[in-house]
Parts: sequence; C-alpha cells; structure tokens
Amino acid sequence: MRAKIVAGNWKQNLNLNEAYDLMEGIDKAIKNADVPGVGIVIAPPAVYLSAAADVFEFTTTVAIAAQDNSRYASGAHTGEISAEMLASCGCDYVILGHSERRSQFQENAEILNEKLERALESRLRPIFCVGEDLEERRSGKYLEVVKTQLQETLFKLPRGAADKIIIAYEPVWAIGTGETASPEQAQEVHESMRMWVKEAFDSEMAEKMPMLYGGSCKPSNAAELFAKPDIDGGLIGGASLKAEDFIEIIKAAGKA
Ligand code: PEP
Repeated sequence: MRAKIVAGNWKQNLNLNEAYDLMEGIDKAIKNADVPGVGIVIAPPAVYLSAAADVFEFTTTVAIAAQDNSRYASGAHTGEISAEMLASCGCDYVILGHSERRSQFQENAEILNEKLERALESRLRPIFCVGEDLEERRSGKYLEVVKTQLQETLFKLPRGAADKIIIAYEPVWAIGTGETASPEQAQEVHESMRMWVKEAFDSEMAEKMPMLYGGSCKPSNAAELFAKPDIDGGLIGGASLKAEDFIEIIKAAGKA
C-alpha cells in the first residue's frame, strides 16, 4: 500500500515573521496530532528554505520542498537558484510543472525536462504537476491533455529516474478558485494516470508511484478525496497557509 503524502505549497505568500509563525504552528499541531505514516512536506518561498530546514531539523516528520529549480546546473544565470543549492539548504523535494509556472513563466516541456534532470541529479524528489484548464475540461479532452503532459516529460525519463517522481494532478480550474474536482472526477484521472504509467513503464512502477490531488483541497473535502483508491494525498495551496487547516488535511490523510 502506498503511504499518504500531504504537501503544502505556500507560493509567494508571507513575510519572514509570518513564515516562522506558520512553521511553529505546524510543528506544534503535528506534535499534538497522531498522524503516523503520513509524509508531510512544506514548500515555503526560496528565501525561507534554510529557516524551514532549521526549524524542522530535528524532526523526521516534516520535509522541505522548493517551489522551483533552475534549468541550469550553475553559472551566469542571475536570479536563478540551482537544484544543488536547494539540496544544500536542506530540501528533499521540489515542485515542478505547476500550472502557475507553466502559464506565467512560459514553462514548456523542454524547460521542464531540463528542470527535472537538474532536480534528479541533485537528488531532489520532484512533485511534478499536470492538469487541464477549464476549456480542456469542458471540451472533454482532459484525459488526452494530461496524458500528453506526462508523455512529453515523465515518460521520457529512464525508469530509474521516473521512479523518484510524485505526480500531482491539479486541474487548473480548481486551483485557488474554491471549486474542487469531485472525488469521482479526480479518481478518474488518477486511475488513468496509473494505467499510463503502467503502459510507459510497468505495473510495479504504477503501483508504487504516489499521485496527489491538488486544487482547492481543504479540511471539508480532503477525506472524501483521499478515500479514493488512486489518490495518495494532496498538494495544498491556500489551506496550507493556516496551520489548523493544514493539520486537519494531514489528519484526513492519516485516516484514509
Ligand atoms: C496549488 O496551487 O498547488 C493548489 C492546489 O492551490 P489551492 O489549494 O489554493 O487550490
């Protein structure tokens, strides 16, 4: 059975004091809650990653993720942060392919493949996001869209690299909108993704690959989403900015 994972994507939110408050709130809430077996990940903005690594240094319960890594290994790329730097600051994971990066920063498959390679070279575990937009959902082409996103990236990796990936299915129409995919809608895509992973690699890989749902996941809907057989947890945006909501979602994963 796959372990559940709940990852919080803080995006471009909070100043340093607020970030510390949230980390301390999460730390306290986790200590008071009984959630063994749930992998907990937080992805603060890059400038707070070292602080996060310090706060959670002596816990094995919370791992740190970056929200992006450079497509380049090192050198003259002003403003960029390499995967190696992130790993050296205590990150174990990195979110790649988020729809906000794809749409606001024109990240296409070519760029994402370079970023995936850099992440894997530095032993960061990518949480790789895919998902259709509203028009693609309405046109009924959403499965095709998600399959293509996987074929252009993840399925090009050798098996020994692809098996480090966590997929996050994040329908763009559900991100930050308050509109959540129904458990049935999410399960349909997750089940299809698992079948495509099996076709691209093999059934062992398909069985083991963690697949998270993201898109307005909150305490009130987490349990029914996580109860679906192919949903292995969540990538949480807005609700990860409040320790009490984040912990409720983690508890829902613990019970699923
Ligand atoms: C996200 O952006 O990864 C996300 C899932 O956001 P939200 O939970 O706010 O919809």
